[in-house]
Amino acid sequence: MAFETNFDSKKNPNCSSGVLAQCRALKTDFPYLRMGVAGYSVMGKCIPALYLGNGERRVLFCAAHHANEWLTSIVLLNYIRSLCENGDIGGYTACFVPLLNPDGMDIVSGALCSGPYFEEAAETALRYPHIPFPSGWKANIRGVDLNLQYPARWEKAKMIKAAGGYNSPSPRDFAGFCPLSEPESRALAELTENFLPHVAISLHSQGEVIYYSHAGAAPEGARQLGEKMAAAGGYQLEITPAESDNAGYKDWVIARFGVSAYTIELGLGENPLPISELESICRRAFPMLQITLDGV
Ligand SMILES: [Zn+2]
Repeated sequence: MAFETNFDSKKNPNCSSGVLAQCRALKTDFPYLRMGVAGYSVMGKCIPALYLGNGERRVLFCAAHHANEWLTSIVLLNYIRSLCENGDIGGYTACFVPLLNPDGMDIVSGALCSGPYFEEAAETALRYPHIPFPSGWKANIRGVDLNLQYPARWEKAKMIKAAGGYNSPSPRDFAGFCPLSEPESRALAELTENFLPHVAISLHSQGEVIYYSHAGAAPEGARQLGEKMAAAGGYQLEITPAESDNAGYKDWVIARFGVSAYTIELGLGENPLPISELESICRRAFPMLQITLDGV
């Protein structure tokens, strides 16, 4: 497939309302895209979902669990546009959730810089002076790490992170007071229960690595598909390290449905990765995403 290389700022928003506008623009440009709402954030912002195709193979893509990894949203939006422009609609049904953490994106990008939610986050950040604010913020707006929220060895994640000092709302690494306590993680869990993907991809940054296992094991075929993805993108394929093998979305999809799920850590550098990295990240990400869609 060809790649979109003309990245203009209108197509690459840096705030949640811009992402929503871009989803609507995609729907306008390509009316066969179906647009839905996965849910709403703590602040009531829409978490959009886009659907493409009617094939039997169901593939779910989500981006930006983590606030300061919002560039992954822009990668996914560009991928959807590239797919549609190339008319590449094969034997799959794809579900895209380009921005799971809209409040978080807005706080990191500066779109949200006042008001009670911002003030509370800034106060939380003061307790963690070693984490820059807002650039080091990964959590949702009330200080829960959305990728530590899923009921797949959640207690273990909670214990490990609490031992590291994160046992209350924090810029990162707080697992919440119970699994799926947050509207954002709950929205994605519910969507996943309804969509029942054959493969799920969760986009994060950074590290140029793909994780494919949970609790030291992986579903049948997961490694083989992961190897193809890694080869296509020039990324490493690795077993998830034991300390981060719990309560993530990928972990839950593997544990709950027994299907392949991957965390892809896009790009290299310090989060938030600069928009100047977008094109080079997309060039390596698109072939990997395409392999998950096609399944070969
Ligand atoms: Zn992440």
